Amino acid sequence: MEFVERYNGSGLLIEVEKILYEFKGVQHIQIFQTKSFGKMLVLDGKIQLTEKDEAFYHEMLVHPAMLMHESPKRVLVIGGGDGGAVREVLKHDPKDVVMVEIDENVVKACKEYIGIDMGALEDSRVNILFEDGLEFVRNCRGRFDVVIVDGTDPNPISQALISKEFYRDCAKICDYFVTQSQSPFAQPDYFKSIYDNAEFKNKAVYLGFVPTYPHGLWSYLIGSDVMKIALDLNVIRKRFEKRSIETIYYTPEIHVSAFALPKWIAHLIR
Ligand code: SAM
Repeated sequence: MEFVERYNGSGLLIEVEKILYEFKGVQHIQIFQTKSFGKMLVLDGKIQLTEKDEAFYHEMLVHPAMLMHESPKRVLVIGGGDGGAVREVLKHDPKDVVMVEIDENVVKACKEYIGIDMGALEDSRVNILFEDGLEFVRNCRGRFDVVIVDGTDPNPISQALISKEFYRDCAKICDYFVTQSQSPFAQPDYFKSIYDNAEFKNKAVYLGFVPTYPHGLWSYLIGSDVMKIALDLNVIRKRFEKRSIETIYYTPEIHVSAFALPKWIAHLIR
């Protein structure tokens, strides 16, 4: 059996051994056992993660913002129902993590059939709320050191997470904000509108490689109204070592180099 995700006349084919779970609710959730990528989560026909490369994505989503912050103790994760982002956040020993996920079934299914959270979603410091991230930040009276958005490709439920209003509300409640910002190559329109809508005083895009996302090239946007997007390699190295963080993709050197953009991407967001 084969699973194919198509994007604009091209696509990615993954050989599947069996389907482990399927449910149609807020989203169409499918979990597959693949032949060479381990277990794979698909939402509404789009690959969200495979066991083989999920760490490439989650580490690059989480560690740059967490390490730019001197002492990230309160963290908000929006989306991220598979638990991979929260797992990486906990490596920084925060006091308090709030995860706001719109689809409870994603969390249940991922815990039972994939388990990449490695127990993070059961950690006593983690509080999971099942609601819309847009509504949560609109009504939020608290403050976070870092806000991380681990949402799906823009669709009817996640579209709000790339709106100006959402970014403005996030800017008010955190020191650093980071979101995945799609593929500049396969989805230049989404990438550009995320960049344009995220009207932070300071912002920057950085890149990573995730083989099972469209064409492998992936982007992230970090922003802040109150902090600089600081990239001192020595500072980042010291914090990384002090926090004793184990990774398989992220390094402080990759962190700094990821912000060097190819000319064509810099042109897209000029
Ligand atoms: N890493 C993935 C990617 O970029 O393809 C994202 C994975 S994670 C499973 C995305 C999660 O965002 C989903 O579980 C989805 O339910 C959640 N989500 C989508 N829209 C949301 C919203 N408005 N508020 C909170 N969570 C949302």
